[in-house]
Amino acid sequence: MDIIHLLPDSIANQIAAGEVIQRPASVVKELMENSIDAGASKVSVSVKSAGRTFIQVSDNGKGMSQTDARMAFERHATSKITNADDLFSLRTMGFRGEALASIAAVAGVELKTRQKDADFGTFIEIAASNIVKQEAVSCAEGTTFLVKNLFFNVPARRKFLKTNQTELQHIISEFQRVVLANSTVAFELSADDDVIYELPAANFKQRISAIFGKKIRHFSQNILNIEAKTGIVNLHGFIGTPQVAVKNAQQFFFVNGRFMRHPYFHKAVASAYENMLQPETSPFYFIYFEVNPENIDVNIHPTKTEIKFEDDREIWVILMTAVKEALGKFNILPSIDFDTEGKINIPNFDKNANIAFPKPIFNPNYNPFSSHSQQHSYSQNWQQLYEKREPQFVDIKPVEKNNTLIAENENFTDFYKFREKFLITSVKSGLMIIDKIRATERITYEKILLQLEQQKSATQKMLFPEILSLSADENSLFEEILPDILALGFEVEKQDLCLYSITGIPSLLTETPDIIELLQNIISSVGENSIQKEIYEKIAMQVAENYAKYSKSAYNQAETESFINQLFKCQNPNFSPDGKKIIAIISDEEIFGKF
Ligand code: ADP
Ligand code: MG
Repeated sequence: MDIIHLLPDSIANQIAAGEVIQRPASVVKELMENSIDAGASKVSVSVKSAGRTFIQVSDNGKGMSQTDARMAFERHATSKITNADDLFSLRTMGFRGEALASIAAVAGVELKTRQKDADFGTFIEIAASNIVKQEAVSCAEGTTFLVKNLFFNVPARRKFLKTNQTELQHIISEFQRVVLANSTVAFELSADDDVIYELPAANFKQRISAIFGKKIRHFSQNILNIEAKTGIVNLHGFIGTPQVAVKNAQQFFFVNGRFMRHPYFHKAVASAYENMLQPETSPFYFIYFEVNPENIDVNIHPTKTEIKFEDDREIWVILMTAVKEALGKFNILPSIDFDTEGKINIPNFDKNANIAFPKPIFNPNYNPFSSHSQQHSYSQNWQQLYEKREPQFVDIKPVEKNNTLIAENENFTDFYKFREKFLITSVKSGLMIIDKIRATERITYEKILLQLEQQKSATQKMLFPEILSLSADENSLFEEILPDILALGFEVEKQDLCLYSITGIPSLLTETPDIIELLQNIISSVGENSIQKEIYEKIAMQVAENYAKYSKSAYNQAETESFINQLFKCQNPNFSPDGKKIIAIISDEEIFGKF
């Protein structure tokens, strides 16, 4: 008996739609990109209940003929490419012809469109992939799509949506990516009748300023221009000075009109800032790449934002140099003399010339996570750090590495526990107070980072395995970080799609009351990070926080001493992983002044 049959189009489309349309923000992105491809100079987006019930995108682009308006909803219907070769000269955002078919499979859609010279436009209404109404209408030139009740026929998807606030945040970030990539186009975004953005046509800098100017501290005084024109790439854009580097800086790359992620190029920027940044901060940047479309591949996945570059190693060097130049002009790199020449000295690459390009110089043995690498680690004799009488510590300043003298009390047997929260002892310059929980966080954080890097861990078997059940989104994140979770010392067995049993946990976490909650927190904190180092940091932060909260800490004197020694072996003993102060010193002046 034959058992194979073809799925009806409506179901096939619904399945395929899942690839392209994951949440309301995906609809907003696809429709905005279509408007850009249609040559619009103004695009308006309006959503209600975070796009669940209503998403409307209107443009003044070239519109569609009556036949094209029908065709547009067919799967693989596109006006943008005709054969495989066209992929090499891609100048449009779309080319797969999947977005409208996907949207129509999972929502109600109304389309109104009119071409420039046409006397009348076309109205089409679609329900569950079927055209239920088509008629001639009079309407403005351009195109308006209205998408209603997204996922009305896919309850599973609907269930995975997050709160309105989160979904709206996704919409806003997709919107920001498109409007930053297309500064010469005017845009509007409103949500439930509140206007969120009203952006006139502008240049790149004005557009960045319109969106982030108020969010970034002292934005206009701290923005630097970068530019490089070479045979293989033209770069332009803006970077922030190290002074305004923060923990979650705005960082955007664009290539030929589209937003992209590029962890490798990110490292080029990061290395240009080397040694200029406070720990755990990074600078903002908005960098635009223009390359011959022949030399990039955007074909990886419909929703992925990674892009492959043919000449990525050359571009790495060009980008790094350009960022360095910009920082140098700002006089951050004193070695470069800018009075003599203001011109950027970037080699003009000729694609066909056989040249050796410079390689970034680095020390392959330097491990930033290792507490053994001398470069950043604090003296083992941590007491020496505090031996000098330094009145500026009154202000509970971060401790400088260079204050090397001898402590008042070499043995430190007189630690005093205060309110179960602080450890107090006297040092030469006054009274040192250590926040125990934050110190534990710092020590654990660095320990876990090292463990993740070296893939070494100790596991404790669980008597009764616990079940971790994930949503589809969480599941894909979890699968990405699973190797790291295992490296931490977890033992995980896959039971089913989105269902795991946890059979072992890191020995460090035996006091944790809710392992499942911790794993959930790790998954959501890792989010869409694509850079391994960031993933490590997020994981280490969650584990450290959790450990510090639940570990038993009845320290006797010997344990306390070893604890303090561990703290001062950390790369950054002054601040907890989330940037809070660990150590405070009350100076002699302050104490004596009270009497
Ligand atoms: P793609 O963008 O990959 O071509 P879509 O499914 O997004 O596929 O769109 C299908 C086709 O519909 C496009 O190729 C284009 O011809 C037409 N289209 C979609 N949106 C618009 C619009 N806003 N203005 C004009 N034409 C549009
Ligand atoms: Mg499209």
